Amino acid sequence: MDGCVFCNIIKKVMPSEVIYEDKDLFSFLDINPVNYGHLLIIPKKHYKDILDTPEEIISKIFIKAKDLMKAIKECLNADYVCLSVVGVDVPHFHVHLVPRYFNDGMENFWPTKKYPEGEMENISKKLTSYLKKKRLMFE
Ligand SMILES: [Zn+2]
Repeated sequence: MDGCVFCNIIKKVMPSEVIYEDKDLFSFLDINPVNYGHLLIIPKKHYKDILDTPEEIISKIFIKAKDLMKAIKECLNADYVCLSVVGVDVPHFHVHLVPRYFNDGMENFWPTKKYPEGEMENISKKLTSYLKKKRLMFE
């Protein structure tokens, strides 16, 4: 898509450190890493987010993410690798793979909160009702 940073990276109009590429997927180093070795893995075709992306491509991304996570862990001596779909910064579906270290000083990526009394059950009911209604869950 014209004007999309990631599409321009795939077309090599914009430079990147390419880590992996096949006919459907592209992976490169994030220029603003959480930790060094922070990768992005994206579909070559422009889909704005995970809801817009075909299941087959989502599967390929997550299967390849596992290989890339192994590479990050072994090559960069990461204690573990965080996989994250954040999603609103660049509107081209992307998965972050971030090498993490027990001593990297980042306890959580995001702040957390406590549920007020009854709200957890309320939200659970909303979500499970939706899934049942859409026949996305066994009853
Ligand atoms: Zn794009």
